[in-house]
Amino acid sequence: MTRSSQIIAGNWKMNLTLSQGREFVATLKSYLEKGSVSRRVLLAPNFTLLAELAGLCAGSGIMLAAQNCAPQESGAFTGETSVAMLKDAGASHVLVGHSERRQIFGEDDSLLCAKLGAVARAGLVPILCVGETLEQRREGRALEIVISQLQADLVEFTEGELIVAYEPVWAIGTGQTATPADASDMHAGIREFLLERFAFGREIPILYGGSAKPDNAAELLAQPEINGLLVGGASLRPETFWQIITA
Ligand code: PEP
Repeated sequence: MTRSSQIIAGNWKMNLTLSQGREFVATLKSYLEKGSVSRRVLLAPNFTLLAELAGLCAGSGIMLAAQNCAPQESGAFTGETSVAMLKDAGASHVLVGHSERRQIFGEDDSLLCAKLGAVARAGLVPILCVGETLEQRREGRALEIVISQLQADLVEFTEGELIVAYEPVWAIGTGQTATPADASDMHAGIREFLLERFAFGREIPILYGGSAKPDNAAELLAQPEINGLLVGGASLRPETFWQIITA
């Protein structure tokens, strides 16, 4: 498996307790031990599961991401979790700017830029999520919106590892997936931006997220600029997640 292998990432959101997470990882590890997999596997559980799952995942190849982080390094920020704490708990990646953070919690681009900087300074890999709403897509502004999010959130990012996840808001948790052609067009536009912006733009994986499931994963993963999937609902059961990993 190389750094260019496709990535299948599961975002558990606010689901699965510690015992359910343990059971999930035990099952996933048993699948991984049986078959050889060419894709990289990453799980984004709740903060409360990270340290325990890091122990269970050690040596299995399963990587862990946090779903969010504070932009500050430490201090009087009740209820927040710093990047140093996430690293200490075993996360190697952090989701930044998931549409639920943007829409429900009002996270704007300047906050996301600060979070991204905190993640990168700690030597963890940010997974920057971008995507347009249905209204923006209907207005023909999907690419413009996505590029403006990338520009704003990456304004201070100059070096280090980065993953971008294109997640059209209207496809998340709705069962409505972008067509492989639409996703592919958007990924090509994102790649063009990354190549212009960074000397290492070719190395940045671009994941697709939005109702990815066992029955559409293979077709999505066959698109040239789709370097992996970020999976929500279908990552909550090891059986379906495994079907996507091996699609
Ligand atoms: C997500 O939350 O990142 C996501 C893609 O969710 P779902 O797969 O359920 O649409």
